[in-house]
Formats: sequence, C-alpha cells, structure tokens
Amino acid sequence: MSEKPASAPGTDEPLFHGRLHYKILLATLLCAAPLIFGVDYLFYRNLRRDKIAEQGRQLQRIAATTATLLDAAELPPEALLKPEATLEMRALSARLRAVQRVNELDQPIELFYWREGKPVPAEGLASPPLTRGLRPEARQAVQRQEVLSTDVYTDRDGAWISAYAPFRLAPDAPVAGVVAVSARADRMNLLIIDHFKILFLEVTLTGLFIIVFFSLILRYFVTQPLGRLLEGVRAMTRRDYAYPIPTTANDELGALARAFVQMRETLQHYVAELESFAQTLEEKVEERSIDLMSANQELLLANSELYENQRQLRKINEDLRRANLAVMETNRLKSEFVANMSHELRTPLNAIIGYASLLQRGRYGALTEAQLRALTRIAENSTNLLELINTFLDFSKIAAGKMEVNVSEVDLAQFLSETIAPLDALARAKGLTLRLEAPPRLPPAATDPSRLRQAITNLVSNALKFTEQGSVTVALRLEAGAEMFAIEVRDTGIGIAEKDLPHIFEEFRQVDGSATRKYGGTGLGLAIAKKNILLLDGVIEVESEVGKGSVFRVRLPLRLREHEMMEASEKPIALPSRSPDNRIVLCIDDEPDLAQQLKAMLDLTHYTVIGARNVTEGLELTTVLHPRIVVLDLILPGVSGLAYLERLAEDPKLKSIPVIVVSQADRRTAQAAFEFPMVIGYHPKPLDRGWLLNNLRKIERETLSWHQASAADQPADRQAESLLS
Ligand code: ADP
Repeated sequence: MSEKPASAPGTDEPLFHGRLHYKILLATLLCAAPLIFGVDYLFYRNLRRDKIAEQGRQLQRIAATTATLLDAAELPPEALLKPEATLEMRALSARLRAVQRVNELDQPIELFYWREGKPVPAEGLASPPLTRGLRPEARQAVQRQEVLSTDVYTDRDGAWISAYAPFRLAPDAPVAGVVAVSARADRMNLLIIDHFKILFLEVTLTGLFIIVFFSLILRYFVTQPLGRLLEGVRAMTRRDYAYPIPTTANDELGALARAFVQMRETLQHYVAELESFAQTLEEKVEERSIDLMSANQELLLANSELYENQRQLRKINEDLRRANLAVMETNRLKSEFVANMSHELRTPLNAIIGYASLLQRGRYGALTEAQLRALTRIAENSTNLLELINTFLDFSKIAAGKMEVNVSEVDLAQFLSETIAPLDALARAKGLTLRLEAPPRLPPAATDPSRLRQAITNLVSNALKFTEQGSVTVALRLEAGAEMFAIEVRDTGIGIAEKDLPHIFEEFRQVDGSATRKYGGTGLGLAIAKKNILLLDGVIEVESEVGKGSVFRVRLPLRLREHEMMEASEKPIALPSRSPDNRIVLCIDDEPDLAQQLKAMLDLTHYTVIGARNVTEGLELTTVLHPRIVVLDLILPGVSGLAYLERLAEDPKLKSIPVIVVSQADRRTAQAAFEFPMVIGYHPKPLDRGWLLNNLRKIERETLSWHQASAADQPADRQAESLLS
C-alpha cells in the first residue's frame, strides 16, 4: 500500500489507490488477454472462411457458365480423344476465348482435356501460358464426378483460389475435360486483414472497457473499504480512535469493519485502564523506592552492627579457645597429679600392708588379741585404700587415653568363669548365688581380655554389693548373626530408680548419699566399665526396677575390627607438632557428621574437635590454630581435599601437621592423597574409634620422642607423662 499520508475520507482518494488495486487489475488483464486474443482469432477465422466461400462461389459460377458456353456437344464424342485432334481443340479454345471476351472475364481460365485418364492442358489458350497444371485436388474432384469444387492454395506465383467445372461432349458421355478458373487470393487477403483490423480494435477495446469497469466495481466494494480500514488502523497507532470507518456493508468486509470498530473500542477502553494503572504503578514504585531506601539504610546499619557482633564473637571465640586450652591444661595437670599421687600413695600403702602382714604373722613378736584385731582392721582398711587408689589410677589412665588395646584370642566362657571366680567368696559371704550361664560351643572372640575383665568385674562387684538376697547371674550369648556377643549381669538387688539411670555412668556419680554410706564405693566403677567397653567398640546399657533388681548388658564385636587400610604405622610421621599442649583436632568435612562422630569418640580424652566445612575455612583454621592433627574428607564442595593437602605441603609452617584422611573417595584419589608426606593414615567412612585412637597414640609417641630429642636436658619420663596425659 502507499506510504504517503492518508487522504481525508471522502472523494479525494485517487482512482487506483493502493497496490492491491493494481495487482487485481494486472491479474485481470493477464487473465483477460488470452480471452480477447482468442475471440479475435475466432472472428478472423470466420471472416476468412466467409470471404473464401464468397469468392469460391463466384469462381464456381464462372467455371460452370464457361463450361456451358463452350457448347462442346457439337463435337463428335471421340473428337478430343484422338491425339491428332488439334483442330477441334483449337476450335474449342477459340470458343473459350470468345466466351471470355464476351463476358469480360479477366480471371485466367484454363482448359484440360481428359486423355487416357490424365488431364492434358489445351495449348495456346492462355496468355501468358499457364504452367500450373491441374492440381491433384481438382483432379480428384473431377474424378469423383463432382460438378463444381473450389481450391485455395499457394504456389511460386502467389496465393490462389480456383474453381473447376467438368464438361462432357454429350449429356451422358463421360467427362471430356475440365474448365479451371483461378483468381489471385492476395487481394482477398488484404481485404480480410482490413476487415479484421477493425474487428480486432472493437473486440480489444470492449475487453479493456470491461476490465476497467470491473476494477472500478472492485475498488468500490473491496479496495476502498480496505483502505479505510487501514487508515483506521494507522489512526489507532497514533491514538486517534475517532477515525470514521463505514460499517454498513452487509458483506465480509462490512463484518470485518464492524469487528474492527468493536475491537478498537475495547482497546481504547484497555488503553485507558492501562494508562491509569501505569500512573498508579509509577506512584507505587516511587513509594516503594523510598521505603526500600530507608530499609536499605536500616540494613546497612544492621549490617554494621552484625559486623561488630561478629568481631566480638570472634574475640569471644578466641577467648573461649584460650579458656578451653587452659581447662585442658588444668585437666592435664589434674590427671598428672592424680597419677603421681596414686603412684606416691601406693608405695607407702604397700609398705603399710606389708608391715601389717609381718606383724600379724608375729614376725616382730607375739601380739595381744586386741592388738591383732586392730592390726586386722589396719590391714583391711589399707587393702581397701589400695583398691581405691588403683581404681583412681585406672580411671586417670583411661581418661588420659593412655590405655592401650591389645587384642588377643579369648575363649569367652572360660574367661568369664575365671573373671567371676575371685568374687565367689564375697557372694558366699553374703549368702548369694553367683551363676554363669554360657552356651556350650562358642567361637573364640578377638578382643582385649584385660579391658573386658575390668568392666565385667566392676559390674559383678556392683551387683553383689547392691544385692542382699537372691542371686547374681552372668549370662553370655551370641548376637547379630554371630558377629557380636552380649554379656548380661543380672541381680535381684535394690534396683535403680528411673530418674537416676541416665547419670549412673557419670564419673563420681552415686545414686544418693545414704546408699553410699551403706554400700561404700567411689562412683567410678560404672564410668570405668563404660570407658573400657567403648575402647573395645562396644556398648553398655541398663534396665532396672527399684526393689526387683538390675540388668547390665554389654554388647561387643566378636572380632574387634582389623583394618586393612593404610595405617599410620606404614609411614613415618614427617614432623610432629611442636606444641605438645595443643590438643586441637581440626575436622574438615562439609557434613557435620564426621565432626560429631569425632567429638563422641574423643569425648573421654583431652582432645578438642573443631570443624571446618570447606577447604578455605580449613586452611584459615589450620593457619590460626595449628591443630595437633587434621581429619580430612577428600570430597568437599568446590575445592577438593587434595587441593588442601597441596596448600599444606607448600607451607613450611603447616606441612608438619599430620593429616588423617577419612573419606569415601575412590581408591585412586585416596592413594593420591596418601602420596603427601603429612598424610599418615586413611580410613573409609565411617571412622573407627579404635583405629583413630591408635593413630593418635602413635602421634603422641612421635611427638614425645621428638621432644626428647630436642630437649635432652629435661628428664625424659616426666616429659613423656606430660605429653601423654
Ligand atoms: P560405686 O562405687 O558407688 O558403686 P558405680 O559407678 O559403680 O559407683 O555405681 C554408681 C551408682 O550406681 C552406685 O552408687 C549405685 O547407686 C548404682 N548402682 C550401680 N550398680 C548397681 C546395681 N547392680 N544395683 C543397684 N544400683 C547400682
């Protein structure tokens, strides 16, 4: 369509406005042209046929008249058949010329004799002489005995039209010859063309007129309404919704116009709504922006407060860490003190017991009854005291993580019978039955018998201590598909109240003062039993009812796990941490489980577990804390655990920190990690407590020997004590 500005509605629109109109016009022209030319051709053909027929009729008439006028009947019938009949022929020719002259015939007329079935031209007749001969078409016509025929043809002299008339020498005689009248067709053709020109002009002009008329109708009914519609759309883009569009037509265009007007009204309505909405929105955005700015300012303020809080928190953390270290140091000193004191107390106590025994046996002379009784009390009390001190020593040793686990093959039934045998005397003295229940054939267990003995002895001693009548039973059985075994110590004693059950395994915890007074004890028996069981990868649980009795149940692995993984012993530790007081274990793992597991495992030791969730955090904490040991998972978010090891290896201050890898990474990654000199062990998840403690012990020993080497002037044993406590 045209791009020029829209003309106003009305009559000032150009006649062939718009490209669509031209296209329709051109298409109509292209369709109509063959039609016009076809009609022209038909007219031409009819005109030519009519003209030829008219001319042919004239010539036929001339030929027939000439044949009649020749009056050949006067001649004898065979006159012309003879070859020497030249005279007759001349006479006939002369007659023909006379006829031509009289009738003023200017067309060339020929005469053919019929001799031996062939037409022979009469000589000396035409001037100039004709050379065409009788055309085959004429010959056939004569042979078919047709009276007249017309022939149109072209030869080297030009276009001709001929007519033929046969003549006979007698009315019933056969055909004797043919009169051929010819006329030039050129003039006739010129006439036809002149006629045709006029016809062509008439037809073509009529066609064109029809096309223009058709296009005008089309303009009125189609392109003009379409143009108006287009202008309406353009006006709408200029937000002019009032452009008049006629909607009265009852055809599809009329319906389109009506639909458009309806759409325009809806659109106008929506635009108005949208504008008002935009206006409100703008106002709201402005309002929100102000709110946002003030919120932002508040946020900034809060952020700075947060930053300050964080700074304070970091300071508190640091203080806490220092306090923790101080507590650990105090704890270490306490354990050291307990160990030393126990040691120092045992020597004189052993001497007291020894001398009392000598006195009792009368080594230093006879004693009175009263003296002997007093001496027995002294010996008993001293033995009790020694037991007490031994208990303390055991506890402080376990607490310091100094207790080694030495696994050996154990026949459990025999082991239990040997363990409870020394307690049988006590049971009998109290009138109690001490029983052992064990299945007949049991597979041997692999565990530490001395750790287990201490735990079972404590449980059975308690059972005997808190039972006045009835029995104490030690029952053994296999569990969990023969991978675990359980030992139950059941008594019919005083039982434990439900509220006290959660506390009985705590150190120095006794159920109440009166009971203590009645039964005695230190409150360490169950704590020691529990720690021993934990060392053996086992669990201990209790069920009890006041007045009815208690059941203490110990569950342990039948074969204490052997680790085929890479142990610390396989590798020398590069350089132990230089500060033996530092007992920080840094655990780098994105999941909190490992750190929690470590905390639970190292609960009874002097180690403090600190967690880091990724390599960056891990590196920061390593630099700040210089941990005694790092427990590292290789699969970490973002940067891998191997990258952490690389960074550690590059830093001369950090590369001496031993690392234990605990990961579920594939074997190749684990081996790549193990290539680093500071990696001293690898264990797949879940971590095993015994394995971890063994490794920690090895680190402690290395640290100890390093310190002995570097500080040879200090007494070595004292130093070892302080490092291992
Ligand atoms: P104690 O040296 O006092 O026996 P334990 O740690 O062995 O210390 O036991 C802690 C407390 O648990 C005891 O004081 C006692 O109250 C309670 N207890 C332990 N074993 C039994 C039991 N078999 N029957 C009833 N109470 C028990």
